[in-house]
Amino acid sequence: MTDIQIQALGSKAAALGCKYIKGAMLRDFTTFGTGGKIPVLIELSGSEAAREIVKFLNSEDLPYFVIGRGSNILAEDCDIDMVFLHTGSLMNEIKAEGERVICEAGAALSAVCLCARDNHLTGLEFAYGIPAGVGGAVYMNAGAYGGEIKDVIEWAEAVDCDGNEFRLTASEMDMSYRHSIFCGKKNIITKVCFKLQKGDKEKIGARMSELAEQRRLKQPLEYRSAGSTFKRPQGAYAAALIEQCGLKGYAVGGAMVSEKHSGFVINTGEATFADVRAVIEHVQKVVKEQTGYELECEPEIIRG
Ligand SMILES: Cc1cc2nc3c(=O)[nH]c(=O)nc-3n(C[C@H](O)[C@H](O)[C@H](O)COP(=O)(O)OP(=O)(O)OC[C@H]3O[C@@H](n4cnc5c(N)ncnc54)[C@H](O)[C@@H]3O)c2cc1C
Repeated sequence: MTDIQIQALGSKAAALGCKYIKGAMLRDFTTFGTGGKIPVLIELSGSEAAREIVKFLNSEDLPYFVIGRGSNILAEDCDIDMVFLHTGSLMNEIKAEGERVICEAGAALSAVCLCARDNHLTGLEFAYGIPAGVGGAVYMNAGAYGGEIKDVIEWAEAVDCDGNEFRLTASEMDMSYRHSIFCGKKNIITKVCFKLQKGDKEKIGARMSELAEQRRLKQPLEYRSAGSTFKRPQGAYAAALIEQCGLKGYAVGGAMVSEKHSGFVINTGEATFADVRAVIEHVQKVVKEQTGYELECEPEIIRG
């Protein structure tokens, strides 16, 4: 990106009410904590900004990447020459309407769960504690404890790679295990509607607290990570296979297979992208050799 392009983009973003960070470090926007310097990160202010900025980037032939809360991303530490469009705190409105909760894509998924509880709405308890933005949760069809986003979503609005807005209903989103129609596309999810059911606020709250406690007991939340590092292979559990292969605690530099939950590769301090890649590749190789299962990496890898 040239300085002139960066300046023009900055003016455009400011005029649209967006926040704009020049020369940001991607590691500051990922939960694992890797990722090198990027020319520009734009925190989008809404769907109009998303449309206009995508059109501008296309006119300048500039590549972009959409980032939510960065909790499913492993990024290289070198310079990454892409514009990052962030759906975050400028797009975090959440409102309940009858049995629906409608929210902007930058809202924290856990905040949406709390809004549902406060409005006596059940269905989203499973999602409490997933450190996602709503857009990222829909993109990945995030799930836990027997629930998935696909069970509760009614529609999502997004901006496509030409800057046009569209809406898809649940059945049009082709959602399955950690997959949606948005995967691999340059859409920006902007707004989401969850359809829930009337429930008992106390019971909803109690279930959410119980699941949060399970996470605290079983997951290495005291370390930075990108959550489960491997997708669940057909007919097995990644964590059980890794443990069976004696890989708990396997480390390269600052990246380590968690002792607490072997499905998580954690950042014990100063992990680099190369460290985490080395741990992931070693785990994949050993598990394949010893059990025959192929483990697929769940977080998205961003290369420079
Ligand atoms: C401690 C921990 C626990 C976790 N537990 C779970 C769990 O129980 N279940 C689970 O499913 N996941 C879990 N995860 C992984 C992660 O939280 C989910 O994958 C989540 O859905 C990612 O959301 P995000 O906003 O952080 O997306 P990001 O990591 O920012 O992005 C992930 C993908 O979504 C895309 N994306 C993000 N926002 C948008 C948007 N607005 N429009 C279009 N595309 C977008 C990005 O381009 C990228 O391809 C966990 C992670 C951590 C660190």
